[in-house]
Amino acid sequence: MSDRFSHLWPPQNPEIQQALASTFQDGDWGRYHGKQTAQLEQALTERFQQPFVHLVCSGTIGIELALRGLGVAAGDEVILAAYDFPGNFRCIEAVGARPVLADINPHSWSLDVASFGNAISSSTKAVIVSSLHGGLAEIQQIVEIARRHEVLVIEDICQTPGAQMLDRSLGTWGDVAVLSFGGSKLLSAGRGGAVLCGQESIWQRINVFKDRGNDTFALSQLQAAVLNPQLNTLDQLNEIRMQAAQQIIAETQGISGLSGLSHAAHSRPVFYKIAWLVNDCQQRASLLAEAYELGLPLFEGFRGFVKRSARRCGKPVALPHSELAAEATILLHHPVLLAEPSEIEMVCEQLVSLFKKWCS
Ligand SMILES: *Cc1c(COP(=O)(O)O)cnc(C)c1O
Repeated sequence: MSDRFSHLWPPQNPEIQQALASTFQDGDWGRYHGKQTAQLEQALTERFQQPFVHLVCSGTIGIELALRGLGVAAGDEVILAAYDFPGNFRCIEAVGARPVLADINPHSWSLDVASFGNAISSSTKAVIVSSLHGGLAEIQQIVEIARRHEVLVIEDICQTPGAQMLDRSLGTWGDVAVLSFGGSKLLSAGRGGAVLCGQESIWQRINVFKDRGNDTFALSQLQAAVLNPQLNTLDQLNEIRMQAAQQIIAETQGISGLSGLSHAAHSRPVFYKIAWLVNDCQQRASLLAEAYELGLPLFEGFRGFVKRSARRCGKPVALPHSELAAEATILLHHPVLLAEPSEIEMVCEQLVSLFKKWCS
């Protein structure tokens, strides 16, 4: 993925270079366990107020391990949004359970509270709650409903490390939280992830699954080394990204044929992407082709699961917003948000003219 902002990510600062040099000098780079992973584990458990953590090789494996940690198995149903990261659906299948689809809220691109409530059955064991594209799931209400029905909650915060809802961090609300350290993510080591658990029994179940005489899905010392300094600057960079994102959202608001994100009071979004919905889905490809020519990092959203057959998943509720999101979402990728103010201004102008041309 190369565009005129690709040089802004991954970060190439002296702190990361220093961390790499120090693992070279002390030999940690060649060890299974060492200072770097221990430091990362401690920083994550403190930050997300979950006492137990597994560092793992990807966010996707993290979701699967989270399901296993909660004891999800054949015969169980797991609810997820019908517009979500493709791997989440596969992870539910991988543990032998049945994915059950609920709709998204069109303003947050994330699981809708009422739709979730209506999708619960006596077989529902867990729910995966992703916050996507700069939107935030209404996690407090979702957790309330889940508790009432004895449904376990996995928070997928792969796109939103550092986000807050009602002045409380995402990742601290549910039973398990999952982070990704993939190459495009806001905390990046090229690959990697973490599973944060509220209870030792969950951690232990995961431990049994991944222990095959070795730590099967491990994260390396080198990966931990580049992540440690990024955790220190996460809030600061999130703030810079938020300022830029809010400017871009404000300047593209009110264009006919286009709708965007809205945020609840007392929330603090994190922008891994910025999402919009275009009214005329037919024009989306033309819009994206022109953006590509301009070097703007604008892409389609996920395909979603609405079209999957009833053999593969349960569809107990209507899914109109997920269906639309799959056809009409466009996403601006985050490195642009770290650009200089003058460049951000130019991006706004280019987006406004593209959107006016192709959306109305
Ligand atoms: C990236 C992502 C994942 C998976 O992370 P990987 O490390 O790429 O496997 C899961 N959920 C969401 C919402 C993501 O954006």
